[in-house]
Amino acid sequence: MRYVIDHDLHIHSQISPCSRDDRQTTAAILAYGLTNGYRLVGVTDHFWDLNVDYGDAPGWLDVGNELWASVLPLPQSDKCRFLFGAEVDMNRRDTIGISLPTLETMDYCLISTGHLHLSGFVTDPACFPRTPAFVKEYYLHRLQTLLAHTELPLRRMGMTHFTSCLIGSDKLAQTLALFSDDELAALFARAAAVGMGVELNACALPADESLLDDVLRPYQIAKNQGCGFYLASDAHHPEGFVNAKAAFEKWVDLLGLAETDKWEFVKEQTA
Ligand SMILES: [Zn+2]
Ligand SMILES: [Zn+2]
Repeated sequence: MRYVIDHDLHIHSQISPCSRDDRQTTAAILAYGLTNGYRLVGVTDHFWDLNVDYGDAPGWLDVGNELWASVLPLPQSDKCRFLFGAEVDMNRRDTIGISLPTLETMDYCLISTGHLHLSGFVTDPACFPRTPAFVKEYYLHRLQTLLAHTELPLRRMGMTHFTSCLIGSDKLAQTLALFSDDELAALFARAAAVGMGVELNACALPADESLLDDVLRPYQIAKNQGCGFYLASDAHHPEGFVNAKAAFEKWVDLLGLAETDKWEFVKEQTA
């Protein structure tokens, strides 16, 4: 059975600093879910848990958001469940910005290890050459570190946009090509084993078709390793909803996904 497009688990509301759009309300998010026939949506604003010591890595305020829980209670529908989550970063000291007590108050959480454009917070500008070789090793280390956090409930945590925000698009293919098939297989075998979801982000489909094979390779390897995938518009504004479903269709077709490739967490929430 073909992978059913019935959810979107990565959506920002107006409280995300990168949205700040009065139209991006929780009611608008639920309406988007209902209009598209989804059974599940989730709001994932950027968040840094104040219970977590961020050490000497500055800049977390740029992505953290004290209004994070102000969207509660979320509107609900019999047809479409609305989950409460967050998009959480790993800072340049490899600290993940969420604590177990806070995780208990949430339905799920997305972890972004690849926001390498957040200079100062995620990368140290004094020693971060933006070369494909450096970026690849830095990112690989961060992914391995994330997947080693067995104290976290990784079965309800998603790994965001694997191929986005790493480096300029002119160097993306070269950077991704530095990951060997074996390295990617080991990473995604681990993700599958711990039950972490792998995100298919509508914005990660390259506009430049010549990049497509390089971008698809990690996800194909993830599929071969038995990972579960979830869909993500990453919408910050209502315009981000417009082409989301078409992008999801394209992801499903390109990867040849079946319902068995869906993240278990999504299946549980839509059962
Ligand atoms: Zn992100
Ligand atoms: Zn996002």
